[in-house]
Amino acid sequence: MPFLQPNALATLVESAVSTHSPRLGRATHAQIIKTLLSLPPFLSNHLINMYSKLDLPTPALTLLSQNPNPNVVTFTALIAGSVQNGHFPSAFLHFSTMRRVNSVQPNDFTFPCLFKASAALRIPVTGKQLHALAVKLSFSSDVFVACSAFDMYSKTGLREDALKMFDEMPQRNIATWNALISNSVLAGRSFDAVRAFISFRRAGGEPNSITFCAFLNACADSTDLRLGCQLHGFIIRSGSEPDVSVGNGLIDFYGKCHRVDSAAMVFDGIVKPNSVSWCSMIAAYVQNDEEEKALVTFLNARKEGLEPTDFIVSSVLSACAGIAGLELGRGVHGLAVKSCVEENIYVGSALVDMYGKCGSIRDSEQVFDEMPERNLITWNAMIGGYAHHGHADLALASFQEMTCGGNCAVLPSYVTLVCVLSACSRAGAVEEGMRVFGGMKVQYGIEPGAEHYACMVDLLGRAGMVERAYEFIKEMPIRPTVSVWGALLGACRVHGKPQLGQIAAANLFELDRHDSGNHVLLSNMLSAAGRWEEATEVRKEMKDVGIKKGPGCSWITVKNAVHVFQAKDTSHEMNIEIQAMLAKLRREMKAAGYVPNTNFALYDLEEEEKETEVLFHSEKLALALGLICIPPGIPIRITKNLRVCGDCHSAIKFISGIVGREIIVRDNNRFHHFRDNQCSCRDYW
Ligand code: ZN
Ligand code: ZN
Repeated sequence: MPFLQPNALATLVESAVSTHSPRLGRATHAQIIKTLLSLPPFLSNHLINMYSKLDLPTPALTLLSQNPNPNVVTFTALIAGSVQNGHFPSAFLHFSTMRRVNSVQPNDFTFPCLFKASAALRIPVTGKQLHALAVKLSFSSDVFVACSAFDMYSKTGLREDALKMFDEMPQRNIATWNALISNSVLAGRSFDAVRAFISFRRAGGEPNSITFCAFLNACADSTDLRLGCQLHGFIIRSGSEPDVSVGNGLIDFYGKCHRVDSAAMVFDGIVKPNSVSWCSMIAAYVQNDEEEKALVTFLNARKEGLEPTDFIVSSVLSACAGIAGLELGRGVHGLAVKSCVEENIYVGSALVDMYGKCGSIRDSEQVFDEMPERNLITWNAMIGGYAHHGHADLALASFQEMTCGGNCAVLPSYVTLVCVLSACSRAGAVEEGMRVFGGMKVQYGIEPGAEHYACMVDLLGRAGMVERAYEFIKEMPIRPTVSVWGALLGACRVHGKPQLGQIAAANLFELDRHDSGNHVLLSNMLSAAGRWEEATEVRKEMKDVGIKKGPGCSWITVKNAVHVFQAKDTSHEMNIEIQAMLAKLRREMKAAGYVPNTNFALYDLEEEEKETEVLFHSEKLALALGLICIPPGIPIRITKNLRVCGDCHSAIKFISGIVGREIIVRDNNRFHHFRDNQCSCRDYW
């Protein structure tokens, strides 16, 4: 390196900061020591600033100790570096050294850093003391100091003080307004955010990309589609080239408002999508149950060379969970390990959830056990997994461990209790369920909601206490929802209580005239009781209202390819082999004592359910393909979009015994693990 003047060296130090290069920084420092006899104070400050910003506090403090007269620039550099790197308590330590030992006064650069630290540590008392000092030193009218004080008041929960400050500010810049809008969103007051935006426009303000993003967040949180669309129009009209961050905000907003097509349109319009853009698009698809599109987007992102982040990986895992894509999920798990994000708590929780929803509870447990730390989401995923598989005892044991885990106990949420209660209802654990429900408010301070009541009705109904379940509904302090009456109707069908069933159905139809499932249930129940006319009436009503049930289909993954079947499907390339397999199974099942469930078929409205066709139900076709193509010893996994029918359920039990294999069917309600002529649901689903 040639001999450089101190000013040129200072420029080099600055570029080490801007390029985040400790190497360049240290090399320059060495050069300074070599070429200069003594370190000029301004260069020492530059170096302290550099080390502090690069998160290397030790050399920064060494330089400080060698500086006989540190000034406000020296200390502000230390404080700013600490805040930038998230060491908020250190920022205050440097501040107190500066005041106590060196009697140095803070300036308009010091205050914003300190306010930021108080906001991050959520300590309003210190924030207020700092504000008093700023007033005393006449910095309170400085627009940057005032704006950061306002931000501190908002973030430490002192909303009134914050608004008072805002009103008293002699001058406001765009940062001030942006702070007002985004803090309103953070406080969950989207309406206030919108009002602030309008006042800002009235005051003649020109919004920038930060304003737009904050406003879009407000619209997304309140799912105010109309307002967000207006802003989108405003952005287009303003004609300025929108920042990629605004595009990302729009994707997020449209995704949350269930306008995933608009989100995709915005995404396609972004010239250079960044990591956040891809991530927002994937999340938007996942939120709107478009799992396949989410996965395709992820693959495209990988093709573009995008490194998977913890956020992307957890979104993609949710997509895998949504389509029960176990092998795909395993692939993403591998990717998470490769990208070193598998220890992240969100990724870990998403893995627990994915394995549970894809039917591999053992993998779920393994991930759960290996996680270095767990939060509420992790516990909910594990307990939800057990509930889904009907393991009430394990769900309750986990719940116990979660809530009584000593100093690492986690407070259960609304969702946790829904999982625990649904586990109890699926396993017929009446007493435990009643106990947990009874303790909800007293022990955990959670007011039971519609979902909890639905679980309880289901619990009582399944256990045959249908009248008690009805009494329970009548005593509910909140209005019963579709799921509550639906649970009662289901119980009435299973236990043959048509009269009570009709009460449930009447309430259901009042709440939702268009749900096909309820109509089918009621009609089945009436036919079973021999009340054919009424059953026909229900069917007619279904037609009148124009209810169409989506076609039932089942899917199975064979060698990374997904095969989808509908009932009576003959379009598969291996149809001949499938038909031969079905015929062979029919013979063997008959020999083992299987009788097709004609009763069941007779009552149902579904085309799929007719007697002659029960053999060609979609799940049986998928199973036949699985038996042909999946080698022995590997469990066969089938997913169905409707509930598995009674005939298929008993047929698969027989088949599991005949072929000696584990068959796992996930229907739209739960998992069925078939093995040795038995199912894990104990015929209760
Ligand atoms: Zn079936
Ligand atoms: Zn079952």
